[in-house]
Amino acid sequence: MDFKPFIRDVNDFPKTGVIFKDITPLLNDNNALKAACQILFEKVHGQHIDKVVGVDSRGFIFAPLLASKLNAGFVPVRKKGKLPYETLSESYALEYGTDSLEIHADAIKKGEKVLVHDDVLATGGTAEAVCKLVERLGGEIVQCNFLIQLDFLNGAEKLNGYDIKTLLKY
Ligand code: IMP
Repeated sequence: MDFKPFIRDVNDFPKTGVIFKDITPLLNDNNALKAACQILFEKVHGQHIDKVVGVDSRGFIFAPLLASKLNAGFVPVRKKGKLPYETLSESYALEYGTDSLEIHADAIKKGEKVLVHDDVLATGGTAEAVCKLVERLGGEIVQCNFLIQLDFLNGAEKLNGYDIKTLLKY
């Protein structure tokens, strides 16, 4: 299936000069939604996964779908201040300044096998911070998967050593 017709470019969102890849047309189409989920599933199927980690907020769409298909649990990584229980926090660079992501301290047990999922891999800073959180809890990252990889931003370099799988590359 060709997924590119289901990805909409939105100019100047969230700010001037950015071309935002909007996945909502893909989510809106019953066949595209099911096929995208199935393909991401097949790219990791056969490997044991205990937890699928989804990244705030568009990573929360596919991560639980994948977790259900993989018989794994779902773990949300959220922007700071959103998780209610004890957290670990990791800072990452934004274009201007830094932000941080958090995970519940009891979300992953030592030695658990983890799939990390987000909608888009851009510069890689977000996914890198997520991987650090998982590893600080003792999780073993089996794969990082994304719907979209913006190759020209070289995010994969920050995830050097991890198995990266994507549905679409630009
Ligand atoms: P990175 O840290 O630069 O790799 O940015 C990745 C994060 O920003 C992910 O959580 C994405 O959801 C979000 N992101 C960056 N660019 C886009 C885009 O074009 N469309 C949707 N999300 C994006």
